[in-house]
Amino acid sequence: EPGEEILHLNGIGVRYGAVVAVDDVTLAVREGEILGLIGPNGAGKTTFIDGISGYASADGTVSLNGESLDGLPPHRRSRAGLGRTFQGIELYEDLTVEENVVVGTTAAADRPTSEDLDQLYRLLGLGSVAKRPVAELSQGRRQLVSVARALAGRPRVVLLDEPAAGLDSDESLWLGERLQAMRDSGVTVVMIEHDMGLVLEICDKIAVLDLGRLIAFGTPDEIKGNPEVVRAYLGST
Ligand code: ATP
Repeated sequence: EPGEEILHLNGIGVRYGAVVAVDDVTLAVREGEILGLIGPNGAGKTTFIDGISGYASADGTVSLNGESLDGLPPHRRSRAGLGRTFQGIELYEDLTVEENVVVGTTAAADRPTSEDLDQLYRLLGLGSVAKRPVAELSQGRRQLVSVARALAGRPRVVLLDEPAAGLDSDESLWLGERLQAMRDSGVTVVMIEHDMGLVLEICDKIAVLDLGRLIAFGTPDEIKGNPEVVRAYLGST
C-alpha cells in the first residue's frame, strides 16, 4: 500500500526560449508507488524530470520528504535522495556491471557497502552477471544496470527515463517484475515509459502530459477511460 506523499512538485515550469516545454505542473508522489509519466513525443516528459532533478532550470518548487530541493544542483538533489537514469544508455561497455554501478558513488556521503550491492544485484536479477563486461549483456540487463547505478546511492525516489526502451515484450515483462520488486523493497519510482502495456500493468498511478501540461492524473483504470487521454495519446498509437 502506498504511504505518505514523499515528493511534492508544485507549479513546475521549464522554458527553452519561447518554447514552454513544461507548463505549471503540480502533482505529488506517494512513498512506495510507481508513478508512470506518459504522453506523446515532445510532450515534455524528459524536460519535466530534468527540471525536478536540477538538470534544467525550472519554475516552481520541489520538495522531497519535506526537504526543499529548490535551487540545488543535480548532485545535491541526488544526495538528498533523488536518483535518476537517462534516456538511452550511458554505460561503460568495457567495464563490468559492478564497476558501472559504483561509478559516481565513490564520492557519495552514503557509499553502498558490498552487502548493499549484493542485495541490489539480487533484487534486479544481476547477480549472475555482476563480474561480466556490460558489452556482453542483453538489452534488458543493460537497462537494469542503469537502474542499479541510480539505486546505488540508495535514493528515496528514483526517476527512470524510458527503462524499457529497445526491449522486446518478453524483456519488458521481466523488467516490469524487477521494477515491482524494487518498489516493494521501498523505493518510490517515477517512470517515463512509452510501452503502454507495461505502464498499465505495473504503475499505481499515471500522469499524462500533453504539450507540457498535465492533462490527467489517476489510476491505470481511470487513465484508460479518460476521453482526453484517449484523444491526445492512446488513440494515436
Ligand atoms: P520524447 O517522448 O520524444 O522523449 P518528451 O515528452 O520527453 O519527448 P521533451 O524531450 O521533454 O519531450 O521535449 C519537450 C519540448 O521541449 C519539445 O518541444 C522539445 O523540442 C523542447 N526541448 C527539449 N529540450 C530542449 C533543449 N535543450 N533546447 C530547446 N528545446 C528543447
